[in-house]
Amino acid sequence: MEMGFEGVFHKYQYKFWLLLILGHVLFITPSYSNEICAASGGFVCHEENPSQFYRCIGYKRKILMSCNTGLHFDPEFNVCNWPNSNDCSAQINRSKTTKLNDVGAATKPPTKSTTTSKPSTHPQTTKIFELTGPCQPEYCKLPKCKCPGPEIPGSLPINAIPQIILLTFDDGINEHNIGYYRDLFGSNITNPNGCPIQATFFVSGDYTIYKDVKELYGQGHEIASHSKSHKFPHAYWLNSDYKTYSDEIVGMKNWLSEKADIPAKDIRGMRSPFLAMGKDAQFKMLKDNRFYYDSSMVTGSLSTTTEIPTWPFTLDYPVNKKYCLLKYCPENSYPGLWEVPLIRWYNDKGSACSMADSCIIPPNSSAVVNFLKDNFNRHYKRNKAPFGIFLHAPWLKNNLKPLKKFLEEVALKNDVWIVTVSQALQWIQNPVPLDKISKFRNWKCKLNN
Ligand SMILES: [Zn+2]
Repeated sequence: MEMGFEGVFHKYQYKFWLLLILGHVLFITPSYSNEICAASGGFVCHEENPSQFYRCIGYKRKILMSCNTGLHFDPEFNVCNWPNSNDCSAQINRSKTTKLNDVGAATKPPTKSTTTSKPSTHPQTTKIFELTGPCQPEYCKLPKCKCPGPEIPGSLPINAIPQIILLTFDDGINEHNIGYYRDLFGSNITNPNGCPIQATFFVSGDYTIYKDVKELYGQGHEIASHSKSHKFPHAYWLNSDYKTYSDEIVGMKNWLSEKADIPAKDIRGMRSPFLAMGKDAQFKMLKDNRFYYDSSMVTGSLSTTTEIPTWPFTLDYPVNKKYCLLKYCPENSYPGLWEVPLIRWYNDKGSACSMADSCIIPPNSSAVVNFLKDNFNRHYKRNKAPFGIFLHAPWLKNNLKPLKKFLEEVALKNDVWIVTVSQALQWIQNPVPLDKISKFRNWKCKLNN
């Protein structure tokens, strides 16, 4: 339902004042600037002074405001905050000529206050405002925000976009499975630009040989966090608190960085053990620690195989339960944090599974290839939403050959790209059509040696 400016202002003005108080704003100068605001209800950085910012009160209308001495405006959380790498000074440094209506905050709808975090226990606890209600595409725009759903990013026609395949493997990397990975990635299957295909490994620390992780990272694969302990039972992950999630997920990131010599900035994602999510404790931990994405939510119908798959989305708005079918889903908003959901697969009887290796399929090579093809086509022939082949290494024991056969076959298509999760998200944020994709920087051949 549309709400006019007056209605919006009256409805949210007390929250607006609350923001001023909580954000340490000292004074308001009601001077109207000629710069363009895209919509009412948002905030944009000042062009030159990181301690100043504007509140948009309508199209082309805004009020100049100032933070308290020493504080900078943080457009990510819409508060005045101690100087940090994401505040307005970063934008000013990046581009003195950035147009105000290009700033993501300018297009955000009204926000609500939340009183959750405690500064002493969380690394960054400035998030005191969050978006409410269902995702609104008119406000939630790329590259920073995307609503869940089947719509193609950038509204490109289907024949102009790549079919992304995400190949991921969970759990420890060690002598029991590194041989499969060497076989799979040593078989010269390439993307249309001739670069080797790339996978993402969600690595846990329970039994991992870090030199093997380093080897895979060195070949250009993405390494992400899957917890230090991967502890049983499943309920441990449902009920863990913020500190436990930090210890497990950030702790594993640190181990990967220290023991496998991977730059911490390259470890950007996580998947929950057993896909058991820890509600807001997990997602707040990811947001506070500036992770790029989570990949733990399961979506897709149990009763029909004809549902059109969703594209990955951001968690700017509290996630619709349709896209988060298993517990415990987060209830708050996490602006800019991406979710790469596990879209259900189906076997030849129509039974659903959340990961490819949990579907029951006939144990012969041609049945496995057909199973892979059928599920691939549900994406390829509909909206080309990224197709996730999400596996654990033991599945490869009997199925490596048919998997390779399938990948060799689809890799011959000039619109199929097998890339890492981060590479996929980079394309979604900046959807480059196929005829220009050879120039897409993030999909060039890469080695991390
Ligand atoms: Zn696992």
